[in-house]
Amino acid sequence: MNIFGSPQRYYQGPGLLDEIGELTRILGDRAVLISDVHVLGLLQDRVRASLATRSAELAAFGFEGELTAENVASLSQQAGGALPDFVIAAGGGKGVDAGKAVAHRLGLPFVTAPTAASTDSPTSKNYVLYDDNHRMAGVFHIDRNPDSVIVDTNILAQAPGHLLLFGIGDAIAKHFEARQCARAGGRNMFGHQPTQSALALAERCYQTLRNDAEAAIAAAGTGIPTPAFERVVEATVLMAGLGFENGGLSVAHALTRGLPQLSGLGSAPHGFLISYGLMVQLKLEATSSNEHADLFEWLAKIGLPRHLTDLTQDMPSGAEWAQAAQAILDAPHMANFERVVSQEELIAAMMNSAPDLEGALL
Ligand SMILES: [Zn+2]
Repeated sequence: MNIFGSPQRYYQGPGLLDEIGELTRILGDRAVLISDVHVLGLLQDRVRASLATRSAELAAFGFEGELTAENVASLSQQAGGALPDFVIAAGGGKGVDAGKAVAHRLGLPFVTAPTAASTDSPTSKNYVLYDDNHRMAGVFHIDRNPDSVIVDTNILAQAPGHLLLFGIGDAIAKHFEARQCARAGGRNMFGHQPTQSALALAERCYQTLRNDAEAAIAAAGTGIPTPAFERVVEATVLMAGLGFENGGLSVAHALTRGLPQLSGLGSAPHGFLISYGLMVQLKLEATSSNEHADLFEWLAKIGLPRHLTDLTQDMPSGAEWAQAAQAILDAPHMANFERVVSQEELIAAMMNSAPDLEGALL
């Protein structure tokens, strides 16, 4: 069986936050806005005003620090007291995931409203919780995707360029991971095999980033969403999200289960781990040295990590390598690879993620 899942609606364009009242009409008259406290301060008056145009009410709840299970429990208790019909999950990766976690706990429909294109979480049904030291505590799955994704590109174009770079680092791997998942007869986030549509979206995501990422990064922080910026936002939020949920993940994302254990990597941005992780994946693939060399050069041009030394100056000991490699090999995404990888091979690819130029065109 093949499965394809997605949000009910995806809206993207300048100024959309002021339309959030109309865009959520079908969901009811009582909303809660969940985000980190900083984003909450920036957004809540506009969201409340927009909801008021259709006589809907808003209660807003924020959190500080890491998105921990304790923060989710406390937010859920406060939000539940407001007897909401739906949740608006807003902010960067953490704020959106907080709202998703609250919606999951309260069993409510939710919409997402990202303020940066730093992850594809706004489109997906999963969210990540951490402990107080930013160690991943678990990935959780909601039984539905967001009802709507509302992407106001005026807000996203104000976000600093490094946040967009995180999103690009995460999104660039999706095509290669979905391709491996399909090759290996692996499973996507719905537990079944990828559709052709998923592979096509992941590939288009990749091509869009190759064509437009540089121009989009130049526009980031200016407050003006250019056409290239709009296309890259769609690639990092929508295509990457649909691409990974429906296409499946592979080695690049499996690395996030072990890399944070290495010294200096505990708080590295997800998108940076993935761009390095993709180089490790391509090193392990049997037939891709030209492709690997081409992408390796491109990542340097736009400022994404390719080597472990781009992420940390601390060189792991033999025991640290072995422990991290085992956590990676135990990750379920490793099953979505064309062959079984040994611990030695994985460590060798992590130590030297540069393309093997023998036989390559470059
Ligand atoms: Zn990711």
